[in-house]
Amino acid sequence: MSQRGILAVVSGFSGAGKGTLMKALLSGHADQYALSISATTRQPRNGEVHGREYFFITKEAFEQMIEEDALIEHACYVGNYYGTPKSYVMEQMEAGKDVILEIEIQGALKVKEKFPDTLLLFVTPPSAEELEKRLRGRGTETEEVIRDRLKRAVEEAEYMDRYDYILVNDDLDTCVQKMHELIQSQHQKTGENLDFICEMKQELKQL
Ligand code: ADP
Ligand code: 5GP
Repeated sequence: MSQRGILAVVSGFSGAGKGTLMKALLSGHADQYALSISATTRQPRNGEVHGREYFFITKEAFEQMIEEDALIEHACYVGNYYGTPKSYVMEQMEAGKDVILEIEIQGALKVKEKFPDTLLLFVTPPSAEELEKRLRGRGTETEEVIRDRLKRAVEEAEYMDRYDYILVNDDLDTCVQKMHELIQSQHQKTGENLDFICEMKQELKQL
């Protein structure tokens, strides 16, 4: 029996390793997962491609998407808009793919409100010192933006306990494996198997 896909949200401090984890998870299980591509008003980093990492759009185009109700959620993060286009997520879940949204906390909580079955995962490095090291080591942001993002991490930490699971990204492969197991275990939840339960009840009555 085909089952609807799981909706999983992955959040975490900037520099925690979310993007790296997503790439590793998808490269190992490309047929099982669909990663939602967000729209954003921030500038592309070196090597980022429109339509691959993000849809890089203007503030006007973003506001138009809000108006047309084309986003599941949107939020402002350190001076830029970010949002999740609705149609792709719905189509992929219907097609049975487990859909991952890699989004920040305000968006994550909005998604959980709209879709209470959403699995909320929070990725963190093993320590604050390691976070700073990774964020600087990535070498993609100015010193000012790094400071803003570290400040934002202090605020974000206040919401960590709103998530279903905390994933410590120490060894990358171990973390990818744990994430995969957590998402896959959702398929066994009762709420994801209501059709099966119904069929089983019918079959049993006909014995
Ligand atoms: P995020 O998407 O959460 O902002 P990135 O995936 O860009 O984070 O990772 C930030 C930096 O940390 C990158 O330079 C990446 O190579 C590095 N990194 C990611 N995961 C690990 C890990 N498990 N151990 C060491 N470095 C890591
Ligand atoms: P970055 O600029 O580092 O790519 O992303 C900054 C933050 O925005 C990250 O925490 C990332 O998870 C989040 N983000 C990316 N896309 C979305 C989105 O569609 N909605 C929300 N709410 N946050 C997003």
